[in-house]
Amino acid sequence: MKSFYLTPALNKMSQEEIRAYQEEKLSRQLRYCYDNSEFYKNKFDDSGAKPEDIRTIDDLRKLPVFMIKDDERKSAQASLQKYGHPFGLHLCANVEDIYLTGTTSGTTGTPTFSYTFTEKDINFIGPQLGHRLSLAGVSKGDRVVFFFALGIYATTMTLWGLRWLGALPIDIDARAGTDLLLKFIDLTKPTYLACTPSLAEFLIDKSPKILKKDVRDFHLKGLLTTGEVGIAIPEIKKELEDAYGCRAYDYWSPCGNAMGISCDSDEYYGLHAVCPDVCTSYEDLIDPITKEPVDIVDGAIGEMIHTSLEREACPAVKYAYGDVVQVFTKECPGCGFKGKRIKLIGRADDMLIVKGVNVYPTAIKDIITSFVPDVTGEIRIVLESPPPRVVPPLKIKIEHGKHIGQADLKGLSKKISDGLHSEIKIRPAIQFVAPNSLPKETRKTPIFEKAY
Ligand SMILES: [Zn+2]
Repeated sequence: MKSFYLTPALNKMSQEEIRAYQEEKLSRQLRYCYDNSEFYKNKFDDSGAKPEDIRTIDDLRKLPVFMIKDDERKSAQASLQKYGHPFGLHLCANVEDIYLTGTTSGTTGTPTFSYTFTEKDINFIGPQLGHRLSLAGVSKGDRVVFFFALGIYATTMTLWGLRWLGALPIDIDARAGTDLLLKFIDLTKPTYLACTPSLAEFLIDKSPKILKKDVRDFHLKGLLTTGEVGIAIPEIKKELEDAYGCRAYDYWSPCGNAMGISCDSDEYYGLHAVCPDVCTSYEDLIDPITKEPVDIVDGAIGEMIHTSLEREACPAVKYAYGDVVQVFTKECPGCGFKGKRIKLIGRADDMLIVKGVNVYPTAIKDIITSFVPDVTGEIRIVLESPPPRVVPPLKIKIEHGKHIGQADLKGLSKKISDGLHSEIKIRPAIQFVAPNSLPKETRKTPIFEKAY
């Protein structure tokens, strides 16, 4: 039988037994957070609960959210003023014991150091990260080119996992540009490429121009994509796999929790929860508006709440990181994995409300992309006032396909509009633009265009 989990005992357990295993770890972790951080002590006291009241994951689900991104920033400012470090009042370890730190905001905004670990933390998390990537076939001797903004989590935490596997990470700062990335690929002959899905798409046209080679000639064993919704969209997965001639995987680990990876299947079956030692994130969802718990039933959609199960430095406890996901509870039809799987739907703060209906931009993009090649798949949602409320109709710019002429646009507009109406109950105002006219970014391609 395939070893989905790193801890051998977990591979022999039922999902109920794994849950009981997590609950044991949970009690210890919550007690530790309460005893070692004023921030968490206050949060527990405000909620009227003590750590020992939280014996099960169901108990945990009833606790209110303890932290959102803005609280993390405030906590970091407060610790900077009080103690002269940016790791926050929720730091539970001695500041001298911090061994590794990283952030997600390498290029924009004020960074928060959500990826802060003691040596014990990284020795625990590294193997989990490595094991997760081993499910995509990465092993000793592989060379993995990493192309992300310097200092984001992927270039700190995840590299630890690769080293644990005996693979060689080749880390290139995204700001060096794609010409240099291609030269590095040509020189180092990697077996895997890790980048955003939109960057992987961008290289398909770029590589023949710079290297006089197709991306297929890289002979990769796999593409490892993260950072945005990509291969969850069937057309994008197929485009990448056809162009590169290998499997495209999707992996994810927001603030070192919720580690997941997609499986080796033609169809996309979501991020598999292969690291239950790390957190309870796949078991704790809330409604992004009402903040009430969402029942974990097959197909349920909600904002994921992170609680770490084994972390010394900056454990997450009821952290609403802002990612909205759809959860799947049935056995994976692709690989037989029995645990939870999730599909990223979008950011809670990207959510729009159109005539009282919650609409996620990725759902719109997903539906529009199903009209490739009549459209290129690039879109922008034009906002005329601050989100989430939108005065209908929602305005969308869509790049039409190369072979589409002016005469075809009316019929195409109706087909897309009908598609959006039947799936997500919106009738947008569609404006077509020429192929390749919407700018693509090497980092995250924006989905909104602000017109206010
Ligand atoms: Zn699977």
